[in-house]
Amino acid sequence: KLGNETLKAELGRASWKLFHTILARYPEAPDEDERTALQSYLHLFVRLYPCGECAEHFRVIVDKFPPQVSSRSAAAVWGCHVHNEVNKSLNKEVFDCATIGEFYDCGCAEDEKEGVA
Ligand code: FAD
Repeated sequence: KLGNETLKAELGRASWKLFHTILARYPEAPDEDERTALQSYLHLFVRLYPCGECAEHFRVIVDKFPPQVSSRSAAAVWGCHVHNEVNKSLNKEVFDCATIGEFYDCGCAEDEKEGVA
């Protein structure tokens, strides 16, 4: 049982890292295709998240707070907000979403500059 909790937490940390990093790298001014891609990714992330109980909880949260795909900052703040909803339900500290901008850096800034993301 303790082992399961440890694995669930590890999966959660890895998933949140990828989730927030994707949102931090989303275009500032996405075109229609990019918006559709993020919408689909988030839909499938919720649907396929491997911890079934977590996925079910998260689906309720995302139904209440639909994904914001209009810009990088809107998406990043939305992601921070829904993660905070999960934090609240687990009695964890709430993250300050005003600092989300600098927090998720994948070290890919060079790619962006050279246009080979
Ligand atoms: P995590 O919540 O994993 O956060 C990792 C790091 O992200 C933190 O250390 C902090 O630096 C940063 N962070 C924290 N809050 C935010 C925020 N709001 N925005 C941006 N960055 C932030 N576990 C359960 O037991 N029950 C569940 O129902 C459940 N549902 C989940 C649903 C999803 C979609 C995901 C991805 C995970 C879920 N988890 C659930 C796992 C849980 O959210 C944690 O990942 C796990 O408990 C480990 O917590 P942690 O304290 O290490 O920090």
